[in-house]
Amino acid sequence: MLIVMKPTATEAEIQQVVDRIEEMGFRGHKLPGRQLTAIGITGNKGPVPAERFESCTGIAETISVTQPFKLTSRQMQAEDTIVDVGGILVGGHLFHVMAGPCSVENEEQILRSADAARSAGATFLRGGAFKPRTSPYEFQGLKEEGLQLLAKARERTGLKVVTEVKDTETLPMVAAYADLLQIGARNMQNFSLLEAVGRLQKPVLLKRGMAATIKEFLMAAEYVFSTGNQNVILCERGIRTFETMTRNTLDLGAVAVLKEMTHLPVIVDPSHGIGIRRHVPALARAATALGCDGLIIEAHPDPDRALSDGAQSLTFEMLDHLMADIRKLVPIAGRVLGTLPS
Ligand code: PEP
Ligand code: MN
Repeated sequence: MLIVMKPTATEAEIQQVVDRIEEMGFRGHKLPGRQLTAIGITGNKGPVPAERFESCTGIAETISVTQPFKLTSRQMQAEDTIVDVGGILVGGHLFHVMAGPCSVENEEQILRSADAARSAGATFLRGGAFKPRTSPYEFQGLKEEGLQLLAKARERTGLKVVTEVKDTETLPMVAAYADLLQIGARNMQNFSLLEAVGRLQKPVLLKRGMAATIKEFLMAAEYVFSTGNQNVILCERGIRTFETMTRNTLDLGAVAVLKEMTHLPVIVDPSHGIGIRRHVPALARAATALGCDGLIIEAHPDPDRALSDGAQSLTFEMLDHLMADIRKLVPIAGRVLGTLPS
């Protein structure tokens, strides 16, 4: 159930409702909006009788939420969530591009990538320092040294850093360096990791699992949200289907559905979404036109020699060309390209 407070409701009235929910053995989540505050209830097995709140003042209406995902649903909050990543706002009418290599490989590679991302117009530098690879014999990432190099690149360019956190053990270390914590497709249902990032206030980029339904994806976001962290950005990165000509099947339909069902920002990863360099720009353009909130794109100074995902990584020249198209499409999609503070 969702309790919508009147715009004039005081903090004491809001707290009284939360206390009433907690007396009933459930959890009350305050969801402050631009004009009014709503309070979500979780932990209840069946419907919560609205009469229990009759003596509370300041309530505008009670709404029963029929979706299994509650806090992340549009029923709960009609307006878009805007996630503040160190002063860069993601969601709403803004559109952001995150670019960089799949993995941080060495200082020169990441600094060159950061310069290229910045001059193309990206606001985030991506790069994995802890890589969850399918084979244990493949490059596993530079770990803390990689995080330090990302921090150096941030200092040099002002770009925000998005990097993957692979497990709860390394979470404190990764959180100390990252601006945006990426949870990879392979970890979308790692519930202890979801709860652990839920206990932080650091923004989270949650990627869709390769075999996850939209509902499962939203339920994973619900874990982070219900544990206490409302700074969640979703990322569609393709799912595994019967198709073998592409690495994954980018599910742009899911983006349209997600934008309707949830108030969270939704970005698209066209690189993992197809796995084929020459086709990445077309998917990036399609996703932009569709109305997603941003893109995360792999780009590398020498893709053919990349230690991971070279086949899907753009050259910097391709990134520049793509960005020229994105600049034209963003306003058509009713958005504004987000920039770094000057
Ligand atoms: C990545 O971003 O490099 C990555 C490993 O992505 P995913 O978790 O979507 O496979
Ligand atoms: Mn990758």
